Amino acid sequence: MNQIIFAIALLVTLGIFGFTTWRYVRLFMLTKPTFPVRDLGKRFGLMMKVAIGQTKMFRRPILGFIHALVFWGFLVILVGSIEMVIDGLFGLERSLNIFGWLYDFLMGTGDVFALIIAVAILVFLFRRIFLHVKRFEGIEMKHISHIDANVALTIIFLLMVSLLGMNATYVAKQTLLNAELHGIFPVGAILARIFSDMSMETIQIYHEISWWSHILLIFIFANLLPYSKHFHVFMSVPNVFLSRLEPLGKLTNMDSVTREVKLMMDPETAYAAAPADAPVERFGVLDAEDASWKNYLDSLACTECGRCTAVCPANITGKKLSPRKVMMDLRARMREKRDGLLKQGKEFTDGKSLVRDYISEEELWACTTCNACAQECPINIDHPKLIIDMRRYLVMEEGSAPGELKATFSNIENNGAPWQYSPDDRLVWAENLEMNKI
Ligand code: SF4
Ligand code: SF4
Repeated sequence: MNQIIFAIALLVTLGIFGFTTWRYVRLFMLTKPTFPVRDLGKRFGLMMKVAIGQTKMFRRPILGFIHALVFWGFLVILVGSIEMVIDGLFGLERSLNIFGWLYDFLMGTGDVFALIIAVAILVFLFRRIFLHVKRFEGIEMKHISHIDANVALTIIFLLMVSLLGMNATYVAKQTLLNAELHGIFPVGAILARIFSDMSMETIQIYHEISWWSHILLIFIFANLLPYSKHFHVFMSVPNVFLSRLEPLGKLTNMDSVTREVKLMMDPETAYAAAPADAPVERFGVLDAEDASWKNYLDSLACTECGRCTAVCPANITGKKLSPRKVMMDLRARMREKRDGLLKQGKEFTDGKSLVRDYISEEELWACTTCNACAQECPINIDHPKLIIDMRRYLVMEEGSAPGELKATFSNIENNGAPWQYSPDDRLVWAENLEMNKI
């Protein structure tokens, strides 16, 4: 009976998760292409260093270390979760113990990590609820953002409590039965003392409660994550793997513009390389579907930690721009348009757009493109790329730019330089210099 209930719960979980994933895949298919994913070895190294090694988190050593422990703990505990699925489906207990010492090691570390994570989550919750950390505030941090974070942290805490309960009751059970213990449980062994005076039936009930609550929480959490900021649990590692490998400040040329220039300079070769009937695309980004798949992946991976905004010179000096908000806005806009886009494709419009309805021109032009945000982001999110593409839309599609820039643009157009002088007058300033008289 237990196996049937478990199989149904697993099927429902996988069904909902599959449905959600398929919707995300279809949204990604509507976004624009960007750089090709090459250099897999280099990407793997970067992923190991930044995502698995959590190196960027250590810029704030204490909190970074606590976060890294939580992340590494999750990786180890994942093995136990896989075992629970196998056990649940086939009516087994501790089925992966066939791996001997490796199993002992993983169970032992997982048991200790469960306690560490539970304590770390309490620290995180205390900071969020009572300390009002400036980094967690901002116009983009609505009440729902805080609730979202606190709910996810609470579920993680309950996951760890149920895991410790499961380990403790398992140790108590095996001790009472004088049976072999599969795995090592340093924390579980201490907590097992709580159950030492209880009967076998009572311990078994506690064990069942812990086991089922742990696995059901995993199933619920897996389906809540795609709708939460904690989606970064799934998305951060692939996001780092798919980082742009070029130097941060390097601007990418727009393919459509490059094609036009090539056509002007060398029509025959350019026509051969790119057919003239290639679809005309919008320049830059006006709305969510104009963004590239990497921009969208960035927005889904964002943890809302605020490290980017905390170092943004525009934000620090009181401008409206917040790089975290840019990412959150793209995610929110895509969510708002999602149903329409999935039904009608790119043709769908609701009369709104990412630029202006979510992100104002004032915010976009406040960016200095210093790349401090991208440098600081612990999961290599590239905010300036999206900001520049939204500016490109404003300039190239609407001719909209601040007055100073418009003057610069027309100088470049007329004089071939950003200055307001004719190219013939460029050396006027040097006419009376001594060196010209020699
Ligand atoms: S973009 Fe990066 S640094 Fe900024 S809030 Fe999101 S995860 Fe944190
Ligand atoms: S690149 Fe722009 S958004 Fe990022 S830190 Fe610099 S000014 Fe802020």
